Parts: sequence; structure tokens; C-alpha cells
Amino acid sequence: MSYKTPIRDIQFVMNEVLDFPTHYKNISTGENATPEMVDAILEEGAKLAENVLAPLNQIGDVQGCKFENGNVSTPPGFNDAFQQYKENGWHSLAIDESWGGQGLPHSLGSVLTETQFTANHAWTIYPKAALGAIQTIQAHASEELQKKYLPSMIEGNCGGTMCLTESHSGSDLGLLRTKAEPNADGSFSITGSKIFITGGEHDMTDNNMHIVLARIQGAPAGVKGISLFMVPKIHVNDDGSLGELNTVSCGSIEEKMGIHGSCTCVMNFDGAQGFLIGEENKGMSCMFTFINESRLGVAQHAHAHIEGSFQKALTYAKDRLQMRAPVRKNPEQAADPIIVHPDVRRMLLTQKAFSEGARMLNYYCAKQVDLLHEKGNEEQKHKAQNMLALLTPIAKGFISEVSQEATGYGVQILGGHGFISEWGVEQHVRDTRITTIYEGTTGIQGLDLLGRKVLANKDEILMPFVNMVKEFCGKHKGHALIDQVEQRINRLLELTDVVASKANNPDEINGVGVDYLMFSGYTVLSYFWAQAAVIAQAAINENHAEKDFYNAKLATAKFYFSKILPRTAALSLTIKAGSEDLMTIKDEHFSF
Ligand SMILES: Cc1cc2nc3c(=O)[nH]c(=O)nc-3n(C[C@H](O)[C@H](O)[C@H](O)COP(=O)(O)OP(=O)(O)OC[C@H]3O[C@@H](n4cnc5c(N)ncnc54)[C@H](O)[C@@H]3O)c2cc1C
Repeated sequence: MSYKTPIRDIQFVMNEVLDFPTHYKNISTGENATPEMVDAILEEGAKLAENVLAPLNQIGDVQGCKFENGNVSTPPGFNDAFQQYKENGWHSLAIDESWGGQGLPHSLGSVLTETQFTANHAWTIYPKAALGAIQTIQAHASEELQKKYLPSMIEGNCGGTMCLTESHSGSDLGLLRTKAEPNADGSFSITGSKIFITGGEHDMTDNNMHIVLARIQGAPAGVKGISLFMVPKIHVNDDGSLGELNTVSCGSIEEKMGIHGSCTCVMNFDGAQGFLIGEENKGMSCMFTFINESRLGVAQHAHAHIEGSFQKALTYAKDRLQMRAPVRKNPEQAADPIIVHPDVRRMLLTQKAFSEGARMLNYYCAKQVDLLHEKGNEEQKHKAQNMLALLTPIAKGFISEVSQEATGYGVQILGGHGFISEWGVEQHVRDTRITTIYEGTTGIQGLDLLGRKVLANKDEILMPFVNMVKEFCGKHKGHALIDQVEQRINRLLELTDVVASKANNPDEINGVGVDYLMFSGYTVLSYFWAQAAVIAQAAINENHAEKDFYNAKLATAKFYFSKILPRTAALSLTIKAGSEDLMTIKDEHFSF
């Protein structure tokens, strides 16, 4: 039941669907990412995921993190794995060479991250949170702050956090109260309490850098008065050595439903010295560097659990003998393996179709992030930005929602054995539950997609994607699945207009946002699955040596179109039904 990196499918998506080899020839970080180098890195990455991280997954779940006297110890083996990860250079794979990194494409790092998250979600959040902090500092901090603090972060000796949430301020960050008072030396004293901070305190790095949202005295109320600060756990001297402790401490850690190996901390800032990054009161827009990449990261967490659960369920379904198929597979045995039963196949194929579909969507997004980081070509950057504006809430919201269904099937396929801990499939259900919540709940993603993006700027945000899909459909007309993609993309436009026509009702967007997001998700995946099907069909026609792989791909695509995509019909009706029936019942009548 251990994790096996799906290298063939990763290569299919990278090389055949999304043409990463040409993409890498066209970007500045791609020079060393030759196909041979990418394959070699993937193989080494698979060893890390399978042999180092996966064996710690259940230990992390059972032992969890421990809090004592303000210190947090991570589960046994987590620290050793981190030191190995750091020493082997995984930490700095996609960091610019000028900062001592290896300068490889962001997307390659992202592909490897998928394998690490699938092997061990809780462990992988530590280095990824640090990476997010590094990127925020690189994008917004002054050169002086970068020179002083980035080297130890890039070497992997200093972790990173994002400190947004307060007890009364979750989705609504405009309510946050942590305050920042200016000091004479240009720094700020940060005072307040943050909750739910991932990796707020741990034993894997010497230092920790907190990226904190706070309000400078006298700043306007709401999100327009929020600024962004970096607050080190330990001060750093000018020569790079560690100095005195800053006044930031961990008050406690949370007991929680899943990802037990990842500590979730209450962090108290008691006049801690912090440094402004970006401009005063522009903290939210700076923070979005971190938030957007983290949202794509959560899409990967969610995908990882679909894949992990699928792999375990598949192994079990081939092995478990129960009941007989109408046409016996194993007449000499008392029963057939459960994989012969159509209903078990329905669940396995749903997991497979979501996992392979999510992989295509996530890698496509990662490719856009490469273009975003590319210096010079502003038009290309602008296009990538708009594409990500559309696809980030879809990837985050949709994949995390279907991950709940798919990991539930993992348990169901194992029956009672799925419900007990031993097999690890119930851990996927618990660990993926957070993915619809952190980095903005699905409700918030729906609002972001429909309200802030599509309706606010349909021409720049939605239409480039629609046009790309239509161009693809035009090129492949006549292929059995293409009509269905075209139909869904036209329906998406129609539904967008329906919602726009009712948007003067203030409840409308909020009432249909999640349904619109899910409709978009199924449609986006149909576009990627259609591409996979066209490629697979061509390979089959050419009698490709790996015919079995392509037959399986085509069969999964067909399943997606016949058994999953029709869900859009129901969503179309619920979107058209609008928000009226959500609002007629009075608040006090819910309890009748
Ligand atoms: C394990 C874990 C790790 C976390 N890590 C971090 C971290 O590292 N840093 C950090 O800053 N935070 C972190 N968080 C906090 C997380 O981002 C928040 O929990 C999340 O943003 C939701 O906020 P909330 O819990 O206050 O829920 P609330 O905002 O109170 O939301 C409650 C419900 O109301 C809904 N809702 C609220 N407003 C609207 C609206 N306008 N329209 C529709 N629905 C709405 C939500 O969708 C949700 O269903 C973490 C949380 C957990 C549990």
C-alpha cells in the first residue's frame, strides 16, 4: 500500500499534453531543464517521496506534534528527512542562481511537490511555507532586508510562515487587529495574537521568518489599512549570525482532525520587531503573492490525496476477493477480486479521472507561473496573470471539493477495512478535509471567481480561456468528445450572462458562486481530458508500443465524459435557480 510515483503519467502530462520540452526551451530558467535532466530529477524525486517521506506519513499522523514550554517538536523522523531534503538541494531547486539556488523552472519544482505532498502532506507543508515566505520577500522587501534575511532561508536554515488569521478575523481579514507601531530606526513593533499558524514554531530549522499582516496606527479601517511585515523569530546580526530572540512566541498548538504532523500554532507577538515589506497599507496586495501561490499549493494537496487514496484503493481492489462476477474471472477461487464489480470500478475510475485530470490542470497552472516569473516579456506575463486569475480559484476550489468525494471512495472501496486506521485510506479523508478550508474556503473561492474575476472583467479573465478552448475544439472537430467540451464552454458563457443579468440582487453572486465554480471545474477538466483523449487516440492509431497506456487513458477520458461531466446539467439548473430560495426562509425559522 506504499506510494509509487506515477512517473509515466507525469511524463504524459508534461511532454505530450502540455509540451513542457518546448516551454522550457522558451523560458530563461529552462536552459538546464532538458528532457534527460527532467527525467533524472523525476527519478531522484520519486526516491525521496517513496523512500523518505512516505514511510513517515502514518507516523506523523499517529504521533503528531508535541508542545512543551513554548517549543514544538515535530514527529519522529520529520527533522532528519528535512535535513536530508536540504542537503540534497531540493529546497533551492527553483530558486534563482543569483541567490545560490539551482535556477530550475518553478513548474519542475511544482511537479516534484505533487509527489512530496502525495507521500506526506503534513511534512511537505514546512518547506513549502518557507518557499512562499522567500518568494514574498523576494517580490516585495527592500534589497537590504533581502540581503540580510534571504540567504539563511534559501539554505533551509530558516523556515517561514504566513500570519493572517486572528480569532475574530478569518475569511474577513479586514477585521484584523494586530497593530504595528513605528520605531525610531524605521522598524515596527508588532503586537497581537494570530491563530492557526502553520509551522509557527518547530524544530526543523534554527530560525523562523513570520510574514505578518498588521495595521499601522492610524491606518484606515478594513483591508485598505493593512500592511505587511517580516518578523524573525531570532534577530539576525549583520554578519548573518543569529542574535537575540525576538518577542514572538508560540502560545499553544491545536489538536485537529488531520495533518497531525503539521503544527498549527497560536503565535503571540509582544512588541516584536518587524520590518515593513512593500508600501504602508498595501499589505493585502503584497500578501497575494503568497496567497495565490499557496492556493495553487492547496490544489496540489487536494490532488495528492486523490492520488494517494486511489493507489491504495486500487491495490486493495485487485486483491480483495468478495462475491462473484456474472462472468467469473477466477472460477477456481471461491470469489472474484472486487475490481470486477461495476460499482467498485465506478469509484476507482472516478478517483483515477479526478487525479489524472487534476494533474493536467495543476501542471498547466504551474506552466503559467513560470511565465509570470519570466522577466522582460510583459505581454506574456499579463496573459499568464489573467489565466491564473481565472484558474487559481477553480483549481483550489474544485479539486479540493472533489478530493472529499474521491477520498471518501477510497474508504468505501475498502469497506470496513477502509474505516479502520491500518490501511491509511481514512487518513486521506481526514488530511484532505482542510483543503476546502484553508487559503480561503470554497465559498470564498466561488466569490473570487465569479464576483472579483469573471463578472468584473469577463473579457480579460474568462474570454482568453474560452477562446483557447474554442480554438482547440475547432481544430479537432469530429472527435467524439469534442462536441461535449464545446457545449459546456458555450453553456458557461450562457450561465455567466444569466448571473450577470441578476447581479443587481446583492445575494445572487454569493448564492451561486460555488455552483458556478464547480461547473467551471468540470468544464476545465473536460478540456484537458479531451486533449488527453486526442493524443491517446492518435497513439493507438499509430499502433504505439505503449498501446495499453493509451487505451487506459482513452477509456478514462470516456468515463469522465459519460459518467462525470453530465453533473454540469444539474449545476446549470441550480445556477439558473439563483439565490431566491436561499433567502426566503427567515434566520430564526431554520430551527423549525
Ligand atoms: C490546519 C489549519 C492551518 C491553517 N494555516 C494557516 C496559516 O498558516 N496562516 C493563516 O493565517 N491562517 C491559517 N489557517 C486559517 C484558515 O486560513 C482559516 O481557517 C480560513 O481562512 C477560514 O477562516 P475561519 O476559520 O475564520 O472561518 P470563517 O471565516 O469564520 O468562515 C466560516 C464559514 O463561513 C463562510 N463564509 C464566511 N464569509 C463568507 C462569505 N462572505 N460568503 C460566503 N461564505 C462565507 C466560510 O466559507 C465558512 O464556511 C489555518 C487553518 C487551519 C484549520
